[in-house]
Amino acid sequence: MHYKYLFGPVPSRRLGMSLGVDLVPPKYCSMDCVYCEAGKTSHLIIERREFFPTEDICAEIRDFIEQNKNVDFITFSGAGEPTLHSGIGKIIRFLKKNYPQYKLALLTNSTLLTLPELREEISPIDILIPSLDACSQNVFEMINRPVDNLKIEDIINGLIATRKIFKGKIWLEVFLVPGINDGMEELSRFREVFYDIAADEIQLNGLDRPGTETWVEPMSKERLGEIAEFFSPFNVSVISRKQIESSGSEHKFTLKETIIDTIKRRPCTAEDLVVVTKRPAAEILWLLSEMKKEGSVLTEKQDRGLFYRYIE
Ligand code: SF4
Repeated sequence: MHYKYLFGPVPSRRLGMSLGVDLVPPKYCSMDCVYCEAGKTSHLIIERREFFPTEDICAEIRDFIEQNKNVDFITFSGAGEPTLHSGIGKIIRFLKKNYPQYKLALLTNSTLLTLPELREEISPIDILIPSLDACSQNVFEMINRPVDNLKIEDIINGLIATRKIFKGKIWLEVFLVPGINDGMEELSRFREVFYDIAADEIQLNGLDRPGTETWVEPMSKERLGEIAEFFSPFNVSVISRKQIESSGSEHKFTLKETIIDTIKRRPCTAEDLVVVTKRPAAEILWLLSEMKKEGSVLTEKQDRGLFYRYIE
């Protein structure tokens, strides 16, 4: 069976085998980040709605996990902002009640954590991975290009309020773009707000694959290291694609379906796909060249290699 709302499972160093759940259609988001790997936001909104029937999403997850036991985490992420789905709280409760053996993770852009009801809905999550790429309004608007009238101060206050009631781990992700949010003034502001947010870990991230805007450059490893040093004594780590490891998973999908599921969410190199699928490079390259011939993939050359992007 080909699932509509699920992708993976994908092996990940920190989450083990992680089954992805995509709750919103591409590309509904409350921001239009310059570095977004999922492409330009076509629907810039902050109003929550039930994009897909909540019951159907729960039924798909039930079907998957009743046939596949090899999953450690169920992760809400995808090509948009998952908390825009108004049924996320119901899905979380459904999973915690029926499948408590699986841990839950949520990747969010933090914009809706300003809502007390959302903070309550997501409180049973085990690992919350919110992002925060700016502490001042002008930098926020430059890098994240949010919906009108969204204030970074409110988002920071939402993160602080979340920490007060959230019992799981918080890994705060900061995406760094050279020349935009890596100046000393902004970094000093980050350091101040880190005290109040009190995340369990701060994860620094930089461009690793083609972003929405071609002028966005990757941050050098040396600079990321310096910034990590600047943020000490916080628990800081630098995230990279090397942290994705092979872990011997069995894939339910055919190889082609797995490749499509992966590259329709974010472009990948053939090497990335070898890691995700654990199939030989020659087989992946042959399939990618077939897909290129049939016009379902586009390629784009970047420093890290040739990236493949799916075209619907
Ligand atoms: S990076 Fe996340 S928050 Fe930013 S536009 Fe893409 S999906 Fe939205």
